Order: sequence, then C-alpha cells, then structure tokens
Amino acid sequence: MFFFKCFKCGKCCHNVKSEGYERYIPVYLDEISKLENLALKNKVKNNLEPDLLYPDILNKRLIVVTYVLKFKDVCAFYNEKLGCTIYNDRPITCKSYPVSIWKEHINYMMKVNTDCKFVEKNIGLISPKNYSELETFFPKEYKQAKKLMIKGKEILYRIIELEQQKKIDVGYLSGKLDFFYDVEKAEVEYKNWEKINLYDIELD
Ligand code: SF4
Ligand code: SF4
Repeated sequence: MFFFKCFKCGKCCHNVKSEGYERYIPVYLDEISKLENLALKNKVKNNLEPDLLYPDILNKRLIVVTYVLKFKDVCAFYNEKLGCTIYNDRPITCKSYPVSIWKEHINYMMKVNTDCKFVEKNIGLISPKNYSELETFFPKEYKQAKKLMIKGKEILYRIIELEQQKKIDVGYLSGKLDFFYDVEKAEVEYKNWEKINLYDIELD
C-alpha cells in the first residue's frame, strides 16, 4: 500500500520562505524543559519563546499557553550531515509533520502540508478526502496529530476549570476571550504584566 515515507531531505527543518520571515515550530508546555535540556546538551542556542498568551484580568498577568521554536535559516537542532539531532525527542509538531492541525472555533481540524517535499512530489497520489484516508497515507503522523488535538483540548479544559474555580479570568466563560492573542500584541498592551505558564497555576 502507498503511504508516506519521509525523504529525510530536511526541507521542513529549514526556512525556505522569503528573507526576514522567521519559521515557527509550535511547542507545548510539557515539551519545554526537555528541549531546554537538549539545547544545553547539544550546545545550541535555545530559541524557545512564548507564543500564545491569554491576558488574565483577575491577576494582571499573562498566561503562556504555547511556545515556539524559532529560526531564521535552519533549526538549531539540525545538522546538515546527520539531520535532526534530537530525532526521537523532537517536538510532537515535528513528529506529526506533514500532518498539521488548526483550530476552528472549538474544533480542531487536520490538514496535509503541501510544503513537504514528499507531498509535493506525490500530490497526485496523496490527497486524502477524509480522516480515514489521511490515517491510511500518514499512519504515524496521524497518530501524532491526534495527540496534538488532545493537547489543545486539555489546554481548553484547564482554562475552563481555572475560570470556574475563579483562579483566573481570561474571558473564556464570559465569551470575551480572543483566541489568537499573540505574544507581540500582548507584550505591547500588557507590557508590565509578568508571564506564567498555564500548568504552573494550580487547581484546587
Ligand atoms: S526539531 Fe528536528 S525535526 Fe524539528 S525542525 Fe528542528 S531539526 Fe527539524
Ligand atoms: S519536507 Fe517532508 S520529506 Fe522532507 S524531511 Fe520534511 S517531512 Fe520528510
């Protein structure tokens, strides 16, 4: 049966877009310390930065929900001869690639990234019409993408629980939450507020 087989070309670990544009690999809170340690061990610059933030009006702080691994030309963990130097420990977003997820209202959707060299070459053979075909063409990557969806839902449930316990107020229950509150916008509007990771806020 025909299915995805990575060419190991490294295209997805390089920034192939225009100059000045930075590439962002989304990273989840439970992956941060492992990646920081790997950066130290591999003696590479830690390019992890907060990405999605929610302003917590109750405590006047910014709640960091996700991070990104940023790079201008090539990922710090990539070696031109060896490929990804943290292959088994790479972020789930890398493990699921070329399958990626995005959020529409409260639902998560999956898509195949056509920037991938393999997909680009086999686009006529690989064009899944539904999730079952997606799973057939990308069995391992589909599993990882499902994990990403679960992570996204866990974040949402955590926020709901924290709001219900009146520990935070990011406006989810009141319907005021801006889902795409990014770091640049938040850092300008709430420049003196400290940042806290979502999972560092304890539930009762
Ligand atoms: S972590 Fe590895 S797989 Fe992910 S972008 Fe960096 S080098 Fe590529
Ligand atoms: S671009 Fe596609 S084929 Fe090339 S290394 Fe990345 S996942 Fe593999």
